[in-house]
Amino acid sequence: MSGKLFEYAPAPESRDIVDIRATYGLFIGGEWVDSTGEDHHKSINPATEEVLAEVAFATAEDVDRAVTAARQAYDKVWGPMPGRERAKYLFRIARLIQERSRELAVLESIDNGKPIRESRDVDVPLVAAHFFYYAGWADKLEHAGFGPAPRPLGVAGQVIPWNFPLLMLAWKIAPALACGNTVVLKPAETTPLTALLFAEICRQADLPPGVVNIITGAGGTGRALVEHQGVDKVAFTGSTDVGRQIARSVAGTGKKLTLELGGKAANVVFDDAPLDQAVEGIVNGIFFNQGHVCCAGSRLLVQESIAEELLDRLKTRMATLRVGDPLDKNTDIGAINSAAQLDKIRELSQAGEDEGATRWSPPCELPERGFWFAPTVFTGVAASHRIAREEIFGPVLSVLTFRTPAEAIEKANNTPYGLSAGVWTEKGSRILWMAERLRAGVVWANTFNKFDPASPFGGYKESGFGREGGRHGLGAYLK
Ligand code: NAP
Ligand code: MG
Repeated sequence: MSGKLFEYAPAPESRDIVDIRATYGLFIGGEWVDSTGEDHHKSINPATEEVLAEVAFATAEDVDRAVTAARQAYDKVWGPMPGRERAKYLFRIARLIQERSRELAVLESIDNGKPIRESRDVDVPLVAAHFFYYAGWADKLEHAGFGPAPRPLGVAGQVIPWNFPLLMLAWKIAPALACGNTVVLKPAETTPLTALLFAEICRQADLPPGVVNIITGAGGTGRALVEHQGVDKVAFTGSTDVGRQIARSVAGTGKKLTLELGGKAANVVFDDAPLDQAVEGIVNGIFFNQGHVCCAGSRLLVQESIAEELLDRLKTRMATLRVGDPLDKNTDIGAINSAAQLDKIRELSQAGEDEGATRWSPPCELPERGFWFAPTVFTGVAASHRIAREEIFGPVLSVLTFRTPAEAIEKANNTPYGLSAGVWTEKGSRILWMAERLRAGVVWANTFNKFDPASPFGGYKESGFGREGGRHGLGAYLK
C-alpha cells in the first residue's frame, strides 16, 4: 500500500465551551484563596505553546492551610457522615462530570495535548465511571471484606502526574471520599486546569468545604504535602525516582502509602495470533496518549517466525496515523506534553540509534510550533539497549524477537518494572500459562490498555505497590 488512502478535511472541536481564567488561586476550604507566596507558573497548550493561565505555586504554609481545612472537614463533617449520605455527593459529582463532559474533554486536550478523541471517549467517561463506581461502595463498606466496621484513615495527601490529569484525580479522590477520608490533591505543574475545574464541580455539587482541597505547584509543593505531619495517607502516581524519595520520607511515620510508578511493559505476539488484530493492539498499546502511559506496551516481543510479516503490517498501519492538532476529531497522536518530555524522548531515541538499533517512522509532517514526535519503531533491539530497559514515555516502540514461550517469559520479565503486559495468541491455555508467569500487575489477553473502575490496577517491583480501582482500591483508604 502506498500513498494516502483518504484525505481528511479539518474537523476541529470548538474550544468556545471552555472558559479559562487568566489566573488561578488555590482551592482550600471550599474557597478560592491566594497563595501566601509570590511564585506563579504559566500553564501552556503544548500544541501551540500559547499561555493558557497563570496558576499559583502553593508554599509550605499553603499546604498547612489545606491540610488543616481537610482535617476540620474530616473531624466535623465527612468522617462522621453516614456512607449513604456521602454516596449522594459522589453520585452528584459523577452526574456533573457527565453534564460537563465536553467542557472537561476540551480543556484536558488543550492543557495536556492529548487528542480530543481520547479525552472525549476514554478519559472523561472513565472519570465519571470511577465516581459512579465508588459512590456505589460508600454505603456498603462493611460488606467489602475489610471487617464489620472499617474506618477511614483521615486526611489523604495525593500527588498526580500530567499524562492523565483528570483520570488520575478520579482514581485518587473517588475511593478516598467514598471511604470517608478528606483530601488535599496536587496536580502536575504542566496540567493543572482540569483539576481546578473539578474544584468548581465540587462547589456545584455542594460538597462540604474542606472535603476536597486542590493546591497547585511544582515538586516542592508535592514534597511539602507528603511530608506534612497532619497527613495520614499518601497516594502518589509518577516517576520511580520521586516514588523512591517519597517512600524514604514516609518510612517510619505511620502514614499509609501507595505508589503507582513507571513501567516497561512487554506486549507478546505469538505466531498463532490474529495479526491484524494484534497490529491494532500494538498501535493502541504504544501510540495511545502519545505513549505517555505508565502501562504502555513499549516493548514488542514478537515470535521470530512471524516477525517480518507483523512488522510490515505494523508499518503500513503506522503510515495511516494522523499526528497534529489535538482538538481535531481525526487526530490519532497529539502533542508531547512538554519541552522537557520531548527532550527526554529525543535523547533516548538517539541512544537507540547510537547503540545500533534501526529506527523507522512513517513520513509525517509535524506542526512548526508546539512539541511533536513522530510515531517511531526500533527494530534490531537488544535487551541491553537503553530503549529496551528505560521508560521512554513517548510514541516509541522497541521490538525484540523470541522463539519459544519460555524465552518470551524470560525476556518479558527481564525488567525492573512490573506494571502490565499483553499476550496475543489463539490458545486459551497459552494465555493462562503466560499470565501465571508474567510478573506484571495487569495482563491483557488479545487486547491492550483496557480500563474499568471495577478492575484493580497496580504494579510489582519498581512499578510500585498498592492497587487502585475495584474493591481492592478501597483497602488503601481504610483502617
Ligand atoms: P514525576 O516527576 O514523578 O511527577 C509526578 C508528580 O509528583 C507531579 O505532580 C510532580 O510535580 C510531583 N513531584 C515531583 N517531585 C516531587 C517530590 N520530590 N515530592 C513529591 N511530589 C513531587 O513524574 P512525571 O514526570 O510527572 O510523570 C511521568 C512518570 O509517571 C512516568 O515515569 C510514568 O510511568 C509515571 N506514571 C505512572 C502511573 C501509574 O499509574 N503507575 C501513571 C502515570 C504516570 P511537578 O509536576 O511539578 O513536577
Ligand atoms: Mg499545560
